Amino acid sequence: MSNEEIALSERAKIGLEIHQQLVTHQKLFCSCPMAKSASFNYAFDRKLRPTHSEVGTLDPAALFESKKRRAIKYLAPLDSTCLVEADEEPPYRVNDQALETALIISLALHSSIEDEFHVMRKIVIDGSNTSGFQRTILIARGGYLKVNGQSVGVQSICLEEDAARIIGDDENLRSYSLDRLGTQLVEIALEPTAGAPKIVTCVALALGRLLRSTKRVARGIGSIRQDVNISLDNGPVVEVKGVQQLFQLDEVIKYELRRQDGLIRIAKQIRERTLEKPSKVICATRDVTSILSSSPSRVVKNILQNKNSRVIALCVRDFRGLLGFEPYPGVRLGKQLSELVRFFGLGGIFHSDELPNYGISAQDVSKISSALGMDAEDAFIIIGGPSEVLPLAVREVSDRLVKAFSGVVPETRSAARDGSTVFIRPRPGSARMYPETDIPYISIHESKIRNLEHQVPRPWTEIISTLSKEYTINKKLAQQIYDSDYLTLFEEIVSLTDISPSFVVSKLTEDFVNFERQGYDLNVLDDNIIRDAFVRLSRSQIAKESLPLIFEKILKKEAPNVEEAIASLGIKQLSMNNLKTIVDKVIMDNEQIVREKRNASLGLLMGRCMAVLRGKVDGEKVSKLLRERLEFFLGESVNIN
Ligand SMILES: [Zn+2]
Repeated sequence: MSNEEIALSERAKIGLEIHQQLVTHQKLFCSCPMAKSASFNYAFDRKLRPTHSEVGTLDPAALFESKKRRAIKYLAPLDSTCLVEADEEPPYRVNDQALETALIISLALHSSIEDEFHVMRKIVIDGSNTSGFQRTILIARGGYLKVNGQSVGVQSICLEEDAARIIGDDENLRSYSLDRLGTQLVEIALEPTAGAPKIVTCVALALGRLLRSTKRVARGIGSIRQDVNISLDNGPVVEVKGVQQLFQLDEVIKYELRRQDGLIRIAKQIRERTLEKPSKVICATRDVTSILSSSPSRVVKNILQNKNSRVIALCVRDFRGLLGFEPYPGVRLGKQLSELVRFFGLGGIFHSDELPNYGISAQDVSKISSALGMDAEDAFIIIGGPSEVLPLAVREVSDRLVKAFSGVVPETRSAARDGSTVFIRPRPGSARMYPETDIPYISIHESKIRNLEHQVPRPWTEIISTLSKEYTINKKLAQQIYDSDYLTLFEEIVSLTDISPSFVVSKLTEDFVNFERQGYDLNVLDDNIIRDAFVRLSRSQIAKESLPLIFEKILKKEAPNVEEAIASLGIKQLSMNNLKTIVDKVIMDNEQIVREKRNASLGLLMGRCMAVLRGKVDGEKVSKLLRERLEFFLGESVNIN
């Protein structure tokens, strides 16, 4: 970590919130199975509107989402949904198994279990739930997680229903599949901790391992999601949603710390430079459509193609240089504003610090400046788009500029693939929960909880040691297979075959991680396919080297199963006789060299043999036979001479 990163992390507080899907046959509040559906039987539409909580306050995030007035389409597969998901029928009672799992996890985290469980409704504002709220049950509070000898506090453990799965999103319509809606999640919120991003990754890893040790949680990508709450100097909290992979966590935190510190530095500059009160910072607004109507700028042309679109310019008092000021690479106020207007389906903004550029000429710039009556120290922002959304975007940009005076804005952001974060919406207010009236509260007898204590798993560190001993594999491999999605399958393959456990682990972990990095969808390789390939290997029907080739063929969808992959790769194991013929032919083809170099020609011959035999025969087997045949040949040739 660089000095700069260390200094930033010392000012940071980072809280993790983990959402883990549970393994079960049913959803949380109905008896539908948890299945990912690919086809849909019916669809219905809803329009988003801001919801008032019981207390009557309007949530800022809900209000913001509702400004977009986007329609929502829900697609429902009959094999995994019923009337509960469609919000046409009240929820059933809470699934017992899910409740049990949440209790076991709470016990494992030394958390104090609530006396009664009340189902609450948490307002959902993005349309990801048909009812407009998500049901959640507080199971336990407090507790701790041990990480490398240190304790990290637990805030709360909740059992909740998962949201619908987003499958499409554009300006006018957002669509969700209902297959995931209502599946069981355990949400664990940890106390915010000070310290380096790396420590947070260790905490997430330890919590993930503890959850997996229960054998009651789902595996695979998307089955665990991390949200991170990040603040600097005890300032406003920014929530970053949807970190799916652990390795992203470190990057996301580092980026967010730079972004927040950048905003603090920008705010300092603004306050030093600007004489105006924040609320007066926008000093003029003009429609500049006519000035830009003949501009060669591609972006402007694209906007004005729509006859209903306009371009608005805002004059920002004393802001010259501040919109493009970049305290860290990629951290600029101008960029924050662009992210904000993208929410309304607009492409972004232009500002005077970056112009003339992008086809907007110096002449256009000066025309806009004089239309706005700008002073030399002022800046301008231009925003273009359809006239029905433009006023909303303009108002949000003005509000955001006011907030820029104080630095970081509390908001919800999402983790992007490159480790950066992108604005989604303001942070929801605290008035988000109210009781679910359709389900009575649940109370659990103390003796039931005492019974569940016996089901709290051993610490994962012990499980890894046992795996290492039992299968005589080193600790690293034991940890790899424990962390992978294939522990059960591994144990099965080792019991079914005589293949070395280390080899099985390396194929199921390292090889599979490589496939994933190459962009293959590992779901294509189901347990039956993987098992079949290993069984064939143990029966010498294929060579060790063929295994990755077979898997790749199936991942590429060029073969549906192991048998056809073998056929199309032409890697059926050769008979000993055929093999001998090939080896002898290689020796004869290189007779000259063999006679000269005698045993020293072995390496070269091996290379030539493998060029023909790679993937068809185990290399060791070829090497052994080649030695025999070479000895035989050299013996013969001595006799001949
Ligand atoms: Zn259902």
